[in-house]
Parts: sequence; C-alpha cells; structure tokens
Amino acid sequence: QVVTRFAPSPTGFLHIGGARTALFNWLYARGRGGKFLLRIEDTDRARSTPEATAAILQGMAWLGLDHDGEVISQFERAPRHAEVALELLAQGKAYKCFSTQDEIQAFREAAQAEKRSTLFRSPWRDADPATHPDRPYVIRIKAPESGETVIRDRVQGDVTIRNDQLDDMVLLRSDGTPVYMLAVVVDDHDMGVTHVIRGDDHLNNAARQMMIYQAMGWDVPVWAHIPLIHGPDGKKLSKRHGALGAQEYQAMGYPAAGMRNYLARLGWSHGDDEFFTDAQAREWFDLDGIGKSPARFDLKKLENLSGQHIAASDDAALQQEIQAYLAAADLPALTDTQSSDLERAMYCLKDRARTFPELLEKASFILATRPIEPDEKAAAALASVSDGILTELTPQLQNASWTRECLEEALNAFAEAHGTKFGKLAAPLRAALAGRAVTPSVFDMMLVLGRDESLARLRDAAN
Ligand code: GLU
Repeated sequence: QVVTRFAPSPTGFLHIGGARTALFNWLYARGRGGKFLLRIEDTDRARSTPEATAAILQGMAWLGLDHDGEVISQFERAPRHAEVALELLAQGKAYKCFSTQDEIQAFREAAQAEKRSTLFRSPWRDADPATHPDRPYVIRIKAPESGETVIRDRVQGDVTIRNDQLDDMVLLRSDGTPVYMLAVVVDDHDMGVTHVIRGDDHLNNAARQMMIYQAMGWDVPVWAHIPLIHGPDGKKLSKRHGALGAQEYQAMGYPAAGMRNYLARLGWSHGDDEFFTDAQAREWFDLDGIGKSPARFDLKKLENLSGQHIAASDDAALQQEIQAYLAAADLPALTDTQSSDLERAMYCLKDRARTFPELLEKASFILATRPIEPDEKAAAALASVSDGILTELTPQLQNASWTRECLEEALNAFAEAHGTKFGKLAAPLRAALAGRAVTPSVFDMMLVLGRDESLARLRDAAN
C-alpha cells in the first residue's frame, strides 16, 4: 500500500510551495487507495508555534487535503529517535564522540590551512571504550569511508554522492536530543512511508538520511524531489511575486478546486490538459509527469482555471464556498435571503467570473435593495436615454408573461416602436435594474428578480 506524508515545519502559514507538496502527496496516495499522513516537524522549539500548526491545518482544510490518522508531532517522538541512535551505538554503527567545540574548530582550521577537506573526522570513531573520558559526548554515525551513495530519485534521476563527502554526522546531541535528520528517517520508517515527495531543497539531506537507512537496514522510500516554484521572472518565488499563504488565495476569492487544479499544474503535467476535475487529477497524477525544471508561478493561469472551476461548479456548493470566502476575507456574511437569492441567480453569475469578488460584483443586482444607487457609468447610461422611455416601458411589461421568450419579444417590439434596437436600450435597462454597467443579461436579471421587483426598479429609475 502506498503511504505518503506531508511534513511541514510549523514556523509560519502554509505557503504555496508547501501546499503544492501536500497536494502532490495527497493526490499520489488518494489516486492509489493509499494513505496520506501528516507529521508536524516541530523539533525546533524556538520557531515552532501552535498558531502555525493551526494555520497549516486550516490551509489544508480549505484545499480539501484530508489526512489519515492522527496528526503526528515529531517532537513528541524524540524518545523513539534517541532509541534508534542508541541501537546504532550498540551495533557499533555509531559511536560516542567526546570532541569539544574548540577541538572541532581547531581541526577545521588546520584542515583549511593544509587545504584538506574540512569535514570533521573524529578521533573517537574507533576509540576503545576503555579510553572514554567522563565528559559530555554526542553520538555520531559511522559514515561509509569510501565508495559512493546513489540516490535513486524519481524526478532527478540517479544522484551520486562520493562517500568521502559525507561526515560522521551527529545523531544525538550531548543533551540527548535527536537531530532533525535522524527524526525524519525514523518517523518515515515508523509511519510506513513508501513515497516521499518533497522540495528539492531536501535532496542534499537525502544522502545523509540514506546513511541512517543503510545502517538500520531499513527500506529506503521512493524519493521524488520536486523543483521549487519560481516567480514569472524565473527567480525563486518570493512575496514580491505574490507568494502568499495558501489561505490568502481563499481570502482573494479563488475557489479551492481552481487552486488545486492550478497547484497540480505547478510542476506536473498530463499531456496538454490544463483544466481537470479532482477525480481526473487523482487518476492522472503520477511521478513521471513531474518536471525537472522549476515551475513558474502565473497568476493569470490561476485566474483562468479558477473561472473554469467556478463555471463548472454546482450552484449550492458555490453558494456555500462563497460564504466561506466572505468569512475568510473578513467581509459581512450574507443573510439567509441573500444566500438563497444568490443561489437562485447563480446560473447567470458563474460564467466568466474568475474569482468570487467578480461573481459577487455581477450579483450586486440581486444582493442590492431598492432604491438602487446607480454608479457613475450606470448614471451616465440612464442619462443617455430620452426622458420618459422607462416610464412608457413599465406598463407594457406589466402584462407580459414573465418568460425569457415573452420578455425578449416585448422588449424588441418596444424598441422597434421607438425606432431603435433593443441593444440601445440594454445599457439603461442594466443601469435601472442593477445600478451598474457589468451585469448578467437584462433578461436574466428580470427573470431572477421577478416581475414586481423588476418593474419597481424600472419605475424608480424613471423618476
Ligand atoms: N519539514 C521539512 C520542511 O518543511 C520537510 C522535510 C521532509 O519533507 O522530509 O521543509
């Protein structure tokens, strides 16, 4: 069974890169009936905060990235990590190193002066325990001294590291706390992780982690180190490029499905497919489709995909997601009446809205109440028609059947009788009905608003 995991360090919000890593692992597991686990790497006590953990969980919840089982705290597993270090010690695959910081420093300086490798070589590696002094020590792993370590990476290919470039890394500090590298390996092993998909900034760590796997005789998981995300200018993604927390995209009004689709395409591809459903993403996602070069963040593409997902969404689900968006954006919630009105109008709002603010802008005709305050453009459109036209129109609509066909017929006939075309009347009608220039069609608005409300608005505008 496939087991993947997302292992964020809780030092801030869930950023775009982290969200993408989580999504890839989630897709890979979900598409294969596997498990997707969540481990919070909170061993850096000074920088880890419960708020950051909460923000990461919230971001994942927004994106619908549900994890299996309990959230695992790496810090709480420290005793188990120490146990593994002691096991390696007992097996002679690790040793106690009594070198002091000053001695290590002196070693490095001498190595530098003699132009040798400055990797620390501890004199305690093969020391007889009988010679061990009574003072603090760290536990170091015995790194292989010759040969090569090959990391078979599913994205980067085989990455070969000369073993003489590996040092006897510390596993347990002198205060008995495990180092991060040990914690990751022990946790991934104990959690039964079969596939590790993570940023390629961890590729160097993989070589050192490999030493621990080999020393313990554990199976190495499949590694897939994915290139980091770059900005449109090809430089590493930063705030300047709009590298915000994943949830800030919720507050900007992008639908979760659009964000998922977009993040899935950031560094992974399936032929020429750009738009896909969640089910398709789960079915299609694989490691072969992950590119070797950094993906570029492209807000236009996110907008575009978001628009397509809004258009494809179910009306009731959209209505609910809009409520969540309003809360995330700290905007007033819709009243019950407004939400049911919105849902009723959704069919004519969801096309061509790339974000929820755009959709709500088009929805203002139904969310606003009389008297409708025309904005500047709408006021100009109203001023452009000859006096009395709207006054004359209302009685004619009074008795029309309130269907699209009949309304079209009535309005076309009315326009013709005044020597003009319906197109010329559309702008003032939009202005009267919505108080804005960008709205759904006049007919859609009239149908959604109903006869009484539509006529009342036309009368208001006529006065
Ligand atoms: N905690 C690491 C990070 O947030 C991830 C480590 C891993 O995936 O192995 O970058």
